[in-house]
Amino acid sequence: MTDQPSHLFYQSRNPRPFLDRGEGIYLFDQSGKRYIDGSSGAMVSNIGHSNPRVLAKMKAQMDKATFGYRLHFRTEASENLAAKTAQMMPEGLDRVFFVSGGSEAVESAVKLARQYKITQGEDSRWKVISRFPSYHGCTLGALDLTGYDPLTQPFAPMMRGMPKIPAPATYLDRDNLTEHERGLKYAEMLRDKIVAEGPDTVLAFIMEPVGGASTGALVAPDSYYGRIREICDEFGVLLIYDEVMTGVGRTGRFLAAEHWGIIPDIVAMSKGFGSGYAPLGATVAGSRIVEPILDAGGFQHGFTYAGNPMACSAGLAVLEEIESEGLVANAAAMGDVLIARMQGLMARYPFIGDVRGKGLLTAFEFVSDRDTMEPLPVGLNAFSQLVERAYERGLIIYSRRTRGGAAGDHFLLAPPLIITEAQIDEMMSILTDSLDAFAA
Ligand code: PMP
Repeated sequence: MTDQPSHLFYQSRNPRPFLDRGEGIYLFDQSGKRYIDGSSGAMVSNIGHSNPRVLAKMKAQMDKATFGYRLHFRTEASENLAAKTAQMMPEGLDRVFFVSGGSEAVESAVKLARQYKITQGEDSRWKVISRFPSYHGCTLGALDLTGYDPLTQPFAPMMRGMPKIPAPATYLDRDNLTEHERGLKYAEMLRDKIVAEGPDTVLAFIMEPVGGASTGALVAPDSYYGRIREICDEFGVLLIYDEVMTGVGRTGRFLAAEHWGIIPDIVAMSKGFGSGYAPLGATVAGSRIVEPILDAGGFQHGFTYAGNPMACSAGLAVLEEIESEGLVANAAAMGDVLIARMQGLMARYPFIGDVRGKGLLTAFEFVSDRDTMEPLPVGLNAFSQLVERAYERGLIIYSRRTRGGAAGDHFLLAPPLIITEAQIDEMMSILTDSLDAFAA
């Protein structure tokens, strides 16, 4: 395509080249230049690009019917995907509501929680406590749960300002506590917040089990997860896991919750669920939550395109691929390799202050001083500088300038779950060249 003026508008004007095609972990632009998709887009393309088995299954559905409204017909694609999802989820999370993206999945989770509590005669509960920083989506309801000022402030009077507690960025803490104690300390902040707000007004607590866009693969101490579950149970507050980014194998388990043996009350998923083949998400809960709502007349919620057969045929093919190719186990094994390689870079680049993550959701953070963890000066624009150096060299990484509530540069490395060790080496060699160029 020529450089004609664009009629599109997104966050900014888009100077990027035109995409031509994808193949596995690679993308190619129209000049033929190859890129390693080191962030799976925005942590989306879990099974890699242009998988021929998935495309064949989607084509088979396309040849039969591309749309049938869910209130007019049941479809095999959506029934089979719901059954497959239930089979792959932890025990008890077996009722599935389809949506088309992550923000929709989060909003559906909150509305499901609200309607459930109404069936229990607890109408006074409406507040959803979330964390700061966090990212839960861009629609007004999901944005109200998001803890990231540049995104929320422009719309401030349009939101209720849901209560927030700090995300446990313990790598920044300079106290004398053990990691175990720190995990409990941050979890107690939820208890304090529930008490301060008035327990009978609190509907739910929502968290990303491993942070994503806002905190850069932030993992809490193990003690945090169990204590949060206990606190929610103590006050009858529903625990919502936002697994939009972490779900579907990304962290080396199907759900990140499984690392800590937590069963959330409601889970929001998207991104890797459609894996870039279709806009798809799901809100998943157990019958304990869903049945009373159905008994009371049904869930008063739904999107036109929810559960459409094209998206569901893609989702089913994606889950089948994840299962047959052992991609969850590969994410765990390759995640260990990747983290070790990233830690190896710390000796060479003093500005890498932290390396963290789970499975193939990993990040490093730049600092000006490792002891104090002082961030690099904002004016340096490190987060975009490194992204551009890597992009020129054919590696896509994902960066943000936030951490622990303050400005700080972090970079997510989250390649497709199909990546091999040789491809990790290839990715790290481009990354090292890019870091050299950044440091120069
Ligand atoms: N929750 C989390 C944890 C996310 O990472 C995202 C997307 N970055 C969303 C929700 C929103 O998803 P979407 O952009 O598909 O609406």
